[in-house]
Amino acid sequence: MPRRLALVLSLLLLAGCTMNLRQVEGPDANAIPTTWPTQSLVFAARTADGVFVVDLGWGGADRALRRGLAQIGARPEDVTDVFVTHSHRDHIMAWPLVRHARFHMMAAEVPLFESTLAHADVPSRAVAAVRGDVGPWPGEVAVRSFSGDTTFVMGTDTIRAFVVPGHTAGSTAYLYRGVLFAGDAISRPYHTGFGPGMGIFTEDRARNHAELVSLFERLRPYDVRWVCTAHAKCARPDERFIRKVLR
Ligand SMILES: [Zn+2]
Repeated sequence: MPRRLALVLSLLLLAGCTMNLRQVEGPDANAIPTTWPTQSLVFAARTADGVFVVDLGWGGADRALRRGLAQIGARPEDVTDVFVTHSHRDHIMAWPLVRHARFHMMAAEVPLFESTLAHADVPSRAVAAVRGDVGPWPGEVAVRSFSGDTTFVMGTDTIRAFVVPGHTAGSTAYLYRGVLFAGDAISRPYHTGFGPGMGIFTEDRARNHAELVSLFERLRPYDVRWVCTAHAKCARPDERFIRKVLR
């Protein structure tokens, strides 16, 4: 097999692997990968005060979301809140299924989410040119925005939002029950693991890096047991992991 083909195939295989998703699941929480080979992650959880999801996947997301919700005894109409790590179209595809819910995101992400501003990165522009835009128009869903780190209380649970702009203007990480959903702020080329925001997809790599340095400082008071990327890979945030991400 030519070396280049072997490399591409092994990258695809690596990208297609999920990592440690079981570790962040429970009777009331489900990590749902969509879209082989890049495996956009949807995380769904039931709280005492409603069902929420982090991100909404890409190809096949509707079916995956229905199935994933059913595993925690919920239906799409039960979802009350959607927490958006960022609005790249490979992470919001199932939005029409939960259009009745409150969508939470950083204020700087809203125009990108609602298509009044185009994503600057080349792959997003290419996809939009070929497939058209698949996001909602302004007013199609109820958006609640925030401009800095903030906290949401759902029943006895807390979801903490940490803003990490750079991959997109309003990228945000969410911490829930010791699991940090970092979006694409932490992602390696071809989504094969962990690193500082993937090259061509990241609008401002220097800012992404600076925000990650700040993020790990801001996370110090909290017990973060796992960090998951938006491409379905989770790892323990030990020193080696942090060195890799901040290199
Ligand atoms: Zn992205």
